[in-house]
Amino acid sequence: MMASDIHHRTEDFRKIYRSALSDLKEVMGTSHDVLLFAASGTGAMDATVSNLFSKGDKVIVCCAGKFGERWVDIAKAYGLDATVLSAPYGEVITPAQVEAALAQEPATKGVFVQASETSTGAAHDVEAMGRAIARTGAIFVVDAITGLGTMPLDIDGWGLDVLIGGSQKAFMIPPGLAFMSISPKAWKFSETATLPHFYFNLKKEKKSGDAGESSWTPATSLILALAEALRYVKQLGMPNLIENAQLLARGTRAAVQALGLELFSPGSPGSSVTAVKAPAGMDSGVIVKEFRNRFGAIIANGQGSMKGQIFRIAHLGYFDFADLFAVIAGLEIILHANGHPVKFGTGVAAVEEIYSSVAVKPKTVSV
Ligand SMILES: *Cc1c(COP(=O)(O)O)cnc(C)c1O
Repeated sequence: MMASDIHHRTEDFRKIYRSALSDLKEVMGTSHDVLLFAASGTGAMDATVSNLFSKGDKVIVCCAGKFGERWVDIAKAYGLDATVLSAPYGEVITPAQVEAALAQEPATKGVFVQASETSTGAAHDVEAMGRAIARTGAIFVVDAITGLGTMPLDIDGWGLDVLIGGSQKAFMIPPGLAFMSISPKAWKFSETATLPHFYFNLKKEKKSGDAGESSWTPATSLILALAEALRYVKQLGMPNLIENAQLLARGTRAAVQALGLELFSPGSPGSSVTAVKAPAGMDSGVIVKEFRNRFGAIIANGQGSMKGQIFRIAHLGYFDFADLFAVIAGLEIILHANGHPVKFGTGVAAVEEIYSSVAVKPKTVSV
């Protein structure tokens, strides 16, 4: 990132930009076009609506948390005619609900969902949803900002027409880049869509990308970082990055349950983040604060009305079992210090059981 005084309209930078785009496409595992924007993840969500839809278009929004609410807000801001399928926090929208809503409104142009609803820790069954939506005229728009790198996502095979990612989640670099894949079916929508847009122009961005450039000045430092992060992901292998997150999530679920805590999304827990209910009578903010003050470790509180009720432990990107042993040991100490009965080692033992049972191979480290 320190090398970012590189000029962006040069062959040196074009080489890096092209490699970032093609590596992104490779790790996303898609044949669809991939576009990159200087924006946080929401920028690509906004771009999808403003480029592929028209005012009054009928759409279905799956809303199961704070990020689902963001889709609702964006759809509203652009005047789409949205049918909102809502699930209580901690639960999910089922593929059957989506199918029923599609059957009820055959003119539906799009379905919006979060692959992983980061605010509750729940994951949607985007495979089954995608297969159902593929049989209709609607496009399937998936916010996979924390889904990418934490769950398998067969973009081409499952009919995920637009799939959105962001730099600061499993790609392990700072916030500021949004990216998306876009299917031929979704590109067709751009031909007839009439909503106004300027900065986020998918067609223009595709043309620029093909020439190794971005339409506007790119976030050069972040693109240098992304190119490097993608090299790491390719070396590790995307399936291994995903399996790592899934194992850490499994270990975390086992540990917190062994400690007598309850999962917030027990029905469909995802692997990007595990949301856990604080013990009765304990504010989850206390746990978050003590992690920071005692151990210099950052976990997340709940968002919105979930604040104070739950805490969230992330598994995306550069975490491993050594981190998890430490996090769970810290959690035991914090719970104990705040009056929740803990037999020390119970949670850590649960993580050790998972680690040992899946026979994680020793890492070879050259010293
Ligand atoms: C982090 C995140 C976003 C992106 O939000 P930004 O603040 O725009 O980066 C969107 N959706 C989900 C599910 C997320 O986890």
